[in-house]
Amino acid sequence: MPESKDITWHISKVSIEDRAILQRQNAVTIWLTGLSASGKSTLAYELERRLHDLGHANFVLDGDNIRHGLSSDLGFSPENRKENIRRVAEVARLFNDAGVVMITAFISPYRDDRAVARNILGQERFIEVYLAADISVCERRDPRGLYSRARAGEITNFTGISAPYEAPENPTVKLDTGRQSVDQSIAQLLEAVLPRLRTGHTAR
Ligand code: ADP
Repeated sequence: MPESKDITWHISKVSIEDRAILQRQNAVTIWLTGLSASGKSTLAYELERRLHDLGHANFVLDGDNIRHGLSSDLGFSPENRKENIRRVAEVARLFNDAGVVMITAFISPYRDDRAVARNILGQERFIEVYLAADISVCERRDPRGLYSRARAGEITNFTGISAPYEAPENPTVKLDTGRQSVDQSIAQLLEAVLPRLRTGHTAR
């Protein structure tokens, strides 16, 4: 609920359907969730390129990038993570309203926070993709050295080490990014997502 009572919700004369016809796509949000190093950024930017090449206007919101700007005031406590996810979902919703397909790459470890995102975006727009790589694989990859710093106690509240990751119970797509190649994960993702972008498609 807004802080102020003196505000009005203005209705656009261009409907969601009008935009879908113009852009020739349903604007959904592909919500990637998984441990650090499970492959969120890699798949997000690869998928963005592939969808663009297929003629789909789309855009990535990536965890690290968002924390440089929109969420630069937030840390990694449960409350701050919650607020971060709420902001991301609101931004994704605005882009979706504008007709753009969104890909979000955030650990988003809490089920409740992902449920908030689902509520903000709406069930029919929210495609939950679980990158199910084992923590042992992620720790071995450790592309930015974060796991070793977390193990050494240099980073607190680190998901999988000193903060929980609550795996999705019923994701729309589950990718075995610990075993698959990037190409295999992208192929599985495209197969699940492309039908949802087609106008006239009704969500399950
Ligand atoms: P995250 O954004 O989840 O922290 P990154 O995308 O930064 O993860 O890093 C994942 C690492 O795992 C990259 O080095 C990537 O090349 C590698 N990788 C191997 N297989 C896959 C896969 N199937 N999907 C995504 N990344 C993969």
